[in-house]
Amino acid sequence: MVIKKQSRVLILGSGPAGLTAAVYASRANLGPVLVHGIQPGGQMTITTDVENYPGFAEVIQGPWLMDQMRAQAESVGTEMFSDIVESVDLSKRPFVCVGDSGQVFEGETLIISTGAQAKWLGLESEGSYKGFGVSACATCDGFFFKGKTVAVVGGGNTAVEEALFLTNFASKVWLIHRRDKLRAEKLLQDRLFANKAVEIIWDHKVEEVVGHSNPRSVTGLRLKSVSGASRRDLSVDGLFVAIGHTPNTQLFEGQLDMDEEGYIVTAPDTTKTNIPGVFAAGDVQDKIYRQAVTAAGSGCMAALDAEKFLADGGASAVS
Ligand code: NAP
Repeated sequence: MVIKKQSRVLILGSGPAGLTAAVYASRANLGPVLVHGIQPGGQMTITTDVENYPGFAEVIQGPWLMDQMRAQAESVGTEMFSDIVESVDLSKRPFVCVGDSGQVFEGETLIISTGAQAKWLGLESEGSYKGFGVSACATCDGFFFKGKTVAVVGGGNTAVEEALFLTNFASKVWLIHRRDKLRAEKLLQDRLFANKAVEIIWDHKVEEVVGHSNPRSVTGLRLKSVSGASRRDLSVDGLFVAIGHTPNTQLFEGQLDMDEEGYIVTAPDTTKTNIPGVFAAGDVQDKIYRQAVTAAGSGCMAALDAEKFLADGGASAVS
């Protein structure tokens, strides 16, 4: 028999946004239910040292931080379920989510915090050095490359911003792009071209990340020209992959308003989606900041928005 798990606040996703929403909704006595998928803790569980999450003078580990957030959410009363949500029905309240276990979750309100995933090049060697010199977040990891040489792959706004940011630490930044022009905004391109610490390698792809196995560290890249005519080796201490992110929003297609890249659209200064009672927090609706602390902040906002929605009597409260 299928058991329905009913809640006033149903939260999908267990990164900083979902867990912070859970803490706030629990402490508002809303008895939240949180469902997490195969990567409990989200993107933070694949990072190592974290030095920019406020409140910790010593370096902490991403997985440890997420364990703490989870324990905090549970200690204030959040009920957690592990399930892969396969379908959602947002056409009426309560909203219904069905997991692949067959479990049905119903929420009078729904907070979507399913996050986003960095796109990777898909190389085996890239996987071997993730967290050991290969990163998808310069803001998180740039600090570890003081005085070193790094490369950034990509030609969009993120790649250019990351390359510029990395010049604050690295003595040399290579930007590797697969075409002969960037798609980043002109203003950013001008800044990049003017920065003496950056050198661009056009029309090349990364074929392999090279390094030591003990201690695991990156020493270089093997590049291949797009035409396939030539190869070159580049000595670097780190690689930043900046070829875009994919928000985890496929489940909500056709039901929620999204932008052209699939990010859920929220009303300015709130976490409200186009469906009253459905809120979105964290990287699933943020393609600019993408930080654990900003995700946590928007998770807090989503819980407060859900609380207000319920206190005001549901749909009638939505402006
Ligand atoms: P993006 O604009 O989609 O650019 C991705 C870049 O990676 C492109 O240059 C693409 O090359 C390259 N690329 C994709 N797959 C690749 C692969 N397999 N190998 C090598 N290169 C690959 O992504 P983004 O820069 O992350 O930006 C995403 C969105 O956020 C954009 O709308 C952007 O404007 C926005 N954003 C805005 C700001 C800001 O306003 N300050 C900052 C960051 C991001 P091609 O050019 O050849 O396709």
